Amino acid sequence: MKSIILLAPPAAGKGTQSDLLCKKYGFIHISTGDLIREHGKTDHNYLSGKLVSDDIVLQLLKDKLQEIQKKEGYILDGFPRNVSQARAYQQMLEEMHQELSAVIYLSVDYNLALKRITGRLSCPNCGHVYNDLIEENQPIVKGVCNNCQMELTKRVDDNEDTFKVRFETYLHDTKPLITYYKEKCVLYEVDGAMSTSEVFHQIESIVNSL
Ligand code: AMP
Repeated sequence: MKSIILLAPPAAGKGTQSDLLCKKYGFIHISTGDLIREHGKTDHNYLSGKLVSDDIVLQLLKDKLQEIQKKEGYILDGFPRNVSQARAYQQMLEEMHQELSAVIYLSVDYNLALKRITGRLSCPNCGHVYNDLIEENQPIVKGVCNNCQMELTKRVDDNEDTFKVRFETYLHDTKPLITYYKEKCVLYEVDGAMSTSEVFHQIESIVNSL
């Protein structure tokens, strides 16, 4: 069972790349942000762009991992977000007699991430993510999901003020994970500023080599 972490700043394309990987390899997409939203844990920290407590996130993840045992593998999108979550996850893997396959770091700078967040829209039904400002990620009909024809919505935390805090939180809490995983020799870096298909192409070669 493969376990792959996508590590990146907010709006770097983790969700989009996870969807493509799941389609191609039959992996399960585990987004801790989605789990938090689905379970109504969008507390004050969430709304201001800070991290939800480790206890809440680790419990949601543990439950999800138990649910998906014996599948092809999974992509972790948005987890871990700090070194203490990474350590707790390592412990979970040991308890399940599994190993971390790879950490793929998508590098994107602040301005590009901000542009991506401003145009981001998602389907409240199937969760598919679109972007009004990036041609290859626009829906066929403006504001409507290609898959289920539902009206697309904007996440409450996808605004410039909250984004600034989310990016600072990333720099302070999450970026140290790059060194953490580099030292464990499981880190691969991909330039997240390339087009969706170019980024996917590079990720595919990494996954095929595992
Ligand atoms: P995302 O959907 O990954 O952009 O995450 C949206 C928000 O959910 C973040 O700004 C955090 O408030 C919260 N969140 C998502 N994943 C985590 C995590 N692993 N640890 C703590 N908070 C998280």
